[in-house]
Formats: sequence, structure tokens, C-alpha cells
Amino acid sequence: MKYDRIWNFNAGPAAVPIKVLERVHRQWFNYNRAGMNVMEMSHRSKEFDKIHNATIERTRELLKLGQDYHVLFLQGGASTQFTMVPMNFLGKGQTADYINTGTWSTKAIKEAKLFGKVNVAFDGNEVDFMRLPKQDELKLTRGAAYVHLTSNNTIKGTEFFKFPNTGAVPLVSDMSSDIFSHRFSAKPFGLIYAGAQKNLGPSGVTLVILRDDFFRTAKSKLPTMLNYATHVEKNSLFNTPPTFAIYFMGEVLKWLLDQGGLKAMEEKNKEKAKLLYGFFDEHKDFFRLPVKRRSRSRMNVCFRLHDEKLEAKLIAASPKAGFSGMKGHRSVGGLRISMYNATPIGAIRDVIRFLKDFMKKHG
Ligand code: PMP
Repeated sequence: MKYDRIWNFNAGPAAVPIKVLERVHRQWFNYNRAGMNVMEMSHRSKEFDKIHNATIERTRELLKLGQDYHVLFLQGGASTQFTMVPMNFLGKGQTADYINTGTWSTKAIKEAKLFGKVNVAFDGNEVDFMRLPKQDELKLTRGAAYVHLTSNNTIKGTEFFKFPNTGAVPLVSDMSSDIFSHRFSAKPFGLIYAGAQKNLGPSGVTLVILRDDFFRTAKSKLPTMLNYATHVEKNSLFNTPPTFAIYFMGEVLKWLLDQGGLKAMEEKNKEKAKLLYGFFDEHKDFFRLPVKRRSRSRMNVCFRLHDEKLEAKLIAASPKAGFSGMKGHRSVGGLRISMYNATPIGAIRDVIRFLKDFMKKHG
């Protein structure tokens, strides 16, 4: 493969588009005749300002966001958003609904409980997190401050494609592992957050998309850096933002737009998922898919071998065959292929060939 690379199926940090790496490489020593790398620029410079605002504009364009949405670049990962969301939006006497569909939702719930009343509208523990709830299973609170969900469960391998109807109550979503991988309407969302290290670029920046009317319901007396208002008022430049990560994200978003935006991404991701899940479905005697069909993630494909003793062997054989990151998360075991936007269909064809060979040898 070009540059002697391997197929990277890590769940995050994850593969970035090769075209973006090449472009950043070309700009490495002298970005746009500035005479320096972006990481060497002042965050108050005109040059960086352009990069910063272009990244915001590309986010708006991809999601067709109106001016009633704020686009922020924060630090502390998605995990800090688990805290900031309830700290800002869960007021005294209010209830927030949380849909628990896995490890990350569970962590978000734990944080929310520090600030107010939490109603678990669906407890995925009861189905071992192997499927997502249907609308009529949700026990929603009338007049809740918001309804929180994790759109894609990186560890368990489940993904929402249709979001719950919560009426006038704003949805808040952790989209860390599937943002920009398919089309959706941002309208019902009061807030969307995503750590960058899966579909957006390097770790270190967290994208936050905040609807203005929801933002206006936030509490005010909060620690400065954990108050959304600080970052809204200063266009994420209250302090030094993660400049290089923002620039890199901007390049990824440019690549996304050049590819045809979310529609094109959705088609590609559907095709990859169809191919890989199709292969596993065809070889049910050897492989097992724990996630219920309608909840299957297009981003993180979790699978098991009926003979679980063979799993370690398959994982051990994968790096030599040119693949990285196929081991399932330590909390669930098994195997996982993470295939975000940057993973081309060729990688999936190659891994299927590898899995077929393994099956022939051991089946
Ligand atoms: N949410 C989801 C869905 C994740 O997959 C992860 C893990 N990368 C996190 C939150 C935590 O993100 P971070 O490490 O950026 O805090």
C-alpha cells in the first residue's frame, strides 16, 4: 500500500483520509505562505482566524445549520461534555431524560446525577445493550430539560439512524463516533457534541453545536471554562484553543465536502456496512453478530467467533495480514472493525478476504 501503511480499524483515534494527510504534509513547513506551520501561529492571528472560521462554516454547510446554531471548539474531550451539559442545562427542580445504550451513556448519566434529577428513559442493561429502544419503549418526562442519547455506541456497535421523537424537548446527543457519517436533520437537537478523534481528525478538540434557544436556557453562575456562554461570547477563543486540531478538522471537513458531503458519505458507509455484515450473515456457522439487526452500527462492527478460543488467534494474525485495531473493546471482548468515513471500501474487501482465509483454515 502507498507509504507502506496498513488498514487501520482502530475505534479512535482512528484513520484519517490519506488525501488530508497529504495536504497537511504539503502545508507542513509553510502554510499558505505564512512561513510557518499552523501549530506555530498565534491563535489571535488573521491567518488562524480564517482557518477557525472556515472550519465553522464547513460544519454549518455539512449540517445545513442556520445562524441560530453556535459552533464551538472545546477541549477536555467528549467526557467533559458529559459534565458540562448537565452543569449548564439541568436546573433545580428539573429532570433530564437519558437513554442508556452503553458505556458512554452510562458515564454521561453518572455525571448528570451530580447536578440534578435524572430519569433513565430506557435502560439498555436489560437487553445487554444489544439493541436500541423503539419509540414506544421510551419513558420520557413531560417538560424535561433535555433528552440525552449516544447516537453511536462505539463499544457495543449500535447506532441510531432515526432519532426519538421528543416533541418540544431538545435532544442532546453525543455523536463522537458517527458525526458526519450520514444525513440527519439538526433541528430537534439543542446540543450535539463530538470528540474529533474518530470522524473529524486528531484528538484534542471537541466539536459542540449548540442551538441558540436552548443555549438561552443555560444557568449563568458557573466556572468560566465550563460555561458554554464563555465560549459562545468569544467564538471559542476565550483561551488558546487546540489550534492544530481545529485546522486539521477543517481539512477533514473540506475533504468531506469535496467528496459530496453527507449524502455521499452515507452512501459509502451503507455500502461498506452491507458488504461486511453481509459477509458475516452469509457465514453464520462460523461468525456471530451479537447486535440485533436493526440496531447495527455502520461505524463499529462487533463480531464473535462461535469458537471463542479462535478469537485470540484471529486477532493475533491480523497485524501480519496488514490490519490494525481488530480487537474488541476490553469490556466486551470479541472483535471489532471500526470503519469511519476515512476507511475506503477496499479495506473492507481486503479484510473479508483475510477473514475468509482464516475461516477456511479453521472452519
Ligand atoms: N463518547 C463516545 C461515543 C465515545 O466513543 C468516546 C470514546 N472515544 C467518548 C464519548 C469519550 O471521548 P473522549 O475520550 O474524547 O472524552
